[in-house]
Amino acid sequence: MLDKIVTVDEYLLQQEQLEKEAFEVLPFDTTTCSLKESTQQIFSCLTCKSKDFVGVCYACHVSCHTSHNVIDLGQRRSFTCDCVKINCCSLSSKLIESSNKYDKCFNGNFCYCGKYSEDEECTMFQCDLCEDWIHDRCLDKREPSFDPDQHAFYICNKCITKHSFLSMYVTSEGTFRETSNHSIGFVRDVFLPDNYRKLLCRCENCNKLYSKHDLDYITKDQIQLDPRPQPKPSFDEVQEKVLSTVDRSLAIDGVLAYKELEQDLKSWLKTFVKQGKVVQSSDINEFFDNKRQKRQ
Ligand SMILES: [Zn+2]
Ligand SMILES: [Zn+2]
Ligand SMILES: [Zn+2]
Ligand SMILES: [Zn+2]
Ligand SMILES: [Zn+2]
Ligand SMILES: [Zn+2]
Repeated sequence: MLDKIVTVDEYLLQQEQLEKEAFEVLPFDTTTCSLKESTQQIFSCLTCKSKDFVGVCYACHVSCHTSHNVIDLGQRRSFTCDCVKINCCSLSSKLIESSNKYDKCFNGNFCYCGKYSEDEECTMFQCDLCEDWIHDRCLDKREPSFDPDQHAFYICNKCITKHSFLSMYVTSEGTFRETSNHSIGFVRDVFLPDNYRKLLCRCENCNKLYSKHDLDYITKDQIQLDPRPQPKPSFDEVQEKVLSTVDRSLAIDGVLAYKELEQDLKSWLKTFVKQGKVVQSSDINEFFDNKRQKRQ
C-alpha cells in the first residue's frame, strides 16, 4: 500500500491541476444570472420554448437548463436572460424588462444553408450585424491566400445586401477598405479589422443611414460585458465540501488512496461541476463506499 501514499505537496499539486481542468470545463461564473441587458453568450432552450423562443445566459444554461436541449448562439447584443421571465430560474427571481430580438438561429437554423452544424471540422463565422453563424464552406469564394484569422470581424453578404450603403467598404476580395467615397462597392461576405467601427464614415448622411437601418451600435466601440471570469473557487468549494462533510477517517482514506482514485474522482466531480449540482455528503459517502467495496 505504501506506493499509494501521496505527499501533501503532490496532493496540492494534483488539486491545482484539477482546479485548472475544472476551470477549463466551466470557465465562467455559473452561480449568478447575468440579469441586466448586455452583450453576452446566449443559449436558446428548445425544451422551455413554447410559443415564444427562450434565450438564457451562460449561468442559467448550466444551472437551470442542465438537461435541456439548448443551442449555443454565441454572443448576442443587448440581450436579457429569459430564465426568470419563464419562471424557470433557480438563481434569481428578479424580473427585468427586456427588448430581446429573436431570429431563426433560436431554432438552430444557421447560415445561408439553414443547417445547424456541430461538425467540428467546419469553422463558422458570426456576422457582426445579424449575429447569424455562417459556415466556412458556405462563404463567397476568396483568394486561397486569405486568412480569416487575421480579421477580427465578419459581416455576411445578406447584411451587405440589406444595408447596401455598407458595400462602399467592401473590396472585390471581400476585405475592408477605408473610404470616404460613397460609391457602391462589392456585395459579398466581408472580413474586417478589429478597429473597423472607428473607420466608418461619420458624415451627416451616413449617420442618418445608420439610424435608419438600426445600426447605431456599429459606430460605437464594441462593449463586451461578458464573459466574466469565474471567481476562482468552484473547485476549491467542491473539495472543501468533500473534506468537511465526510467523516475524518474517510477523508484521510480518500486522500491516501487519492492516486488510485484520481481518475475516477476527477471525472466524478466533473459531472457535478458540469451539471452545476452541489455535492452532498451522501454522494461522497456513496462514492467512497463503492470504491471501498471494489477494493475488498
Ligand atoms: Zn440567466
Ligand atoms: Zn430550458
Ligand atoms: Zn436561471
Ligand atoms: Zn452553411
Ligand atoms: Zn449578417
Ligand atoms: Zn459618409
